[in-house]
Amino acid sequence: MKGNKTGTKRVISNIFFGIRYTLKFSPGFIAVALTEGIGRALWHIVQILFLRYFFDAVESGVDFRQILFVLLAYTAYNAVFELFNKWRLNVYVPRARIKLHKCVQSELYKKARSLDLGSYDDPEFYNDFIWAIRESDTRFIDIMDHVGMIVNRVICSAVVLGVLAVIDPVVAAVLFATVAAGFFIKKKITKVWYDCNEEMNPVRRKISYINRLFTLPEYAAELRQGGISAHMRGQNNKALDEYAGILKKTRAKRYSWGFLSRFLMDTFPQAGITGYIIIRFVLDPMFTLGDLSAGISSCFKLFWTLDDISNYVNKFNEHGLYIEKVRRFMETEPKIRGEEKDVPGFESFELRNVSFGYNFGGEEKAVLSDISLKLRRGEKIAFVGYNGAGKTTLTKLIMRLYDVENGEILYNGRNIKDFDPESYRRHIGAVFQDYRIFAASLAENVLGREFTPGDEEKVLSALGAASFEDKLSELPEGIHTQLTTEFSDKGIGLSGGEAQKVAIARVFAGEHELMILDEPSSALDPVAEFELNRSIAENAGDKTLIFISHRLSTTRMADRIYMFEQGRIIESGTHDELMTQNGKYAHMYTVQAKKYLADQLEKG
Ligand code: ADP
Repeated sequence: MKGNKTGTKRVISNIFFGIRYTLKFSPGFIAVALTEGIGRALWHIVQILFLRYFFDAVESGVDFRQILFVLLAYTAYNAVFELFNKWRLNVYVPRARIKLHKCVQSELYKKARSLDLGSYDDPEFYNDFIWAIRESDTRFIDIMDHVGMIVNRVICSAVVLGVLAVIDPVVAAVLFATVAAGFFIKKKITKVWYDCNEEMNPVRRKISYINRLFTLPEYAAELRQGGISAHMRGQNNKALDEYAGILKKTRAKRYSWGFLSRFLMDTFPQAGITGYIIIRFVLDPMFTLGDLSAGISSCFKLFWTLDDISNYVNKFNEHGLYIEKVRRFMETEPKIRGEEKDVPGFESFELRNVSFGYNFGGEEKAVLSDISLKLRRGEKIAFVGYNGAGKTTLTKLIMRLYDVENGEILYNGRNIKDFDPESYRRHIGAVFQDYRIFAASLAENVLGREFTPGDEEKVLSALGAASFEDKLSELPEGIHTQLTTEFSDKGIGLSGGEAQKVAIARVFAGEHELMILDEPSSALDPVAEFELNRSIAENAGDKTLIFISHRLSTTRMADRIYMFEQGRIIESGTHDELMTQNGKYAHMYTVQAKKYLADQLEKG
């Protein structure tokens, strides 16, 4: 994984980025976290000092009322601190967590929408993005919490070390050295885990993919056919074995370093140092009962706080890594850009010697070569050809979802790169083959936004243009029927053809001047297809239309047809012209017509 190798400087810079980011949305959080940190540090210190005072007071026979007063002050401090802490945990943090989660996710979603489609072709970028989104609700809060913790542990350790140094400087020095050694060992363990995780990442990706396969409804039907399900289960088992193998490889290192760290940070301070303090108490008459109690409790506290500091420092390494991904994502600027927001109404398109290739694993895969064509307002043109010929890619270039590297696309005579992509795309509506229906009402799906009173006519007319009326009359709540069951038990599912019609209605409702329909009737039977195409042609009126179709019966209504083969236009003209040419189009049309005739005869 690129970007995982972050040095200390970068980790620190990332943590500050995280803090700044949190402060932007929840400015009070740092103050609350620091107050807790300082309050808790004082709580530990007060505890040690109180015990020391108490035992010394009992030993030297101090006035009982004075002890009672100190006890009351100690209890009052504890009560106030606990009240504050409960308010922090039960009221402040949950509220801040939701607010922060909302703001961070909203920023990440906004950013995701602004990025080029090409970003999704980079699997590493995509994985990091998914991870960043998934962790966003806990990570930023954890960073702030841990900043508070570090502050409290540092203050606490410094004071406790001071107290201990007064009681017994040797113990303080030995303890400090032990925990410092433990810290470096822990760092080693973290590194072993880090390398282990690096190796595990691709395996985890595989396991997560298979997990998605078995949980997402879109795979349910396919998984019930043939042997793919058994194959995937086999792959999952293989991945889990691989996972176990990686763990096994590092087992010896983890065991030995782990034992050494526990010995240095647990067993040695507990048994050795406590024993030493007790022996001093027995042998040294100047060593008071208070010194004994303060010595032992400081020892435990110091060991515990220093151990915690090393834990949090290691945690910050992990946070730094996470922030690195968020930062990389947030700092990625879309490459598809343009200044001019005022895009005039559509008059004409011209493609001049356009060539294009997708970037696939760092290599460019040529898809379109030397495409030139012109399109004027009101014209209806068709792209035809076999699968993979590059037709959809060309429409994606026209929509500027990708930018061309060679050649140019002119909109009203201007290079489309001059225009702000969002403003430019408002003039174009497209239905792609992989259109999506959202978990929202039918009306919202058509409008592509929230429904407001007064939208009804627009929705009905768009659905009419996409010949959806028959289905609409069956829907219990009409245009307000919820689609999909994601958000509502009453939601309905649509067939492939019906869903395609809703996607087409979306383009009609958008009132775009140029409409691109990629295989608009692929999910329909021939009668429904004829009906839909007639409706689209009628309702498109003077709109400009580019449609892609395999079924050549649809293309007869086009003013011009472009036949694609392996990324090139090999024939163009009207249906009659291309039939007269008797080339590849004519051949494809004849084969389809024969097949259609044979199907009809079979049906009788
Ligand atoms: P058509 O619409 O004519 O079926 P496409 O434009 O969808 O053809 O695809 C043309 C070629 O580009 C195909 O070989 C396809 O595999 C490839 N292709 C399409 N999208 C991508 C992508 N995002 N990354 C890499 N290759 C792609």
